[in-house]
Amino acid sequence: MRFLVISDIHGNWDALDTVLAAAATEAVDHVVVLGDLVGYGASPNEVVSTVADLAPRRHMIRGNHDKVVAGIDDGEGFNSVALEAAQWTVERLTEDHLEYVRRLAQGPTEIAPGFVICHGSPFDEDQYVLALDEAEEIFRFHTAQMTFFGHTHVPMLFAADSERVSGTALEGDALMIEVDPDKQYLINPGSVGQPRDRDPRAAYLIYDTEDGRIIWRRQEYPVERAQRRILDAGLPEVLAYRLAAGL
Ligand code: ZN
Repeated sequence: MRFLVISDIHGNWDALDTVLAAAATEAVDHVVVLGDLVGYGASPNEVVSTVADLAPRRHMIRGNHDKVVAGIDDGEGFNSVALEAAQWTVERLTEDHLEYVRRLAQGPTEIAPGFVICHGSPFDEDQYVLALDEAEEIFRFHTAQMTFFGHTHVPMLFAADSERVSGTALEGDALMIEVDPDKQYLINPGSVGQPRDRDPRAAYLIYDTEDGRIIWRRQEYPVERAQRRILDAGLPEVLAYRLAAGL
């Protein structure tokens, strides 16, 4: 079975559309979405309807921005730009799409035995997992072999065996690992719609459970088009500029 794993689309339809077109050549059976469909970008309706139509099989959880847009969280922890974008999104989403976002499931979700998805961490959907000690803490209590997470917008690989935990951020395209059945993994595909590792290309990964391989990919997309939409929408300008910098 081949899984396309994507996260943090953030209303960037230009990036999502490009990633789905690129992944269409990879014979994917399931699409996994790790949350944050909306917030920041200017195309929330296009993103929600594209995700809702994803074929053939889809597994999805909500992210922290989805939660604020849905009115489940008041956005107290958000900075003013994130809050303004969330409010803008609430006002623009159609009633059907707003309802769709409200109904997104809270992670973590086990989509197959030992195969878990979450937004932040398996214990807290709002937690940013970037440091080794944070991953160590999760591995201490979390037993699934394969866990995919998002939220930080940085492609990452943490692996644990009986002796130690290792972890690294991943740069570049087509990085591949062979899954070791004796290890536990915490894996971040990076962000489709707002990468924050100084590489503006959209990030995603392919997980093939048959040959036991994971490949992280980066895909160029029309950044200027997404930027233009943000500026035309009257969203905070920084949201456009950061896309070109990958910040
Ligand atoms: Zn996000």
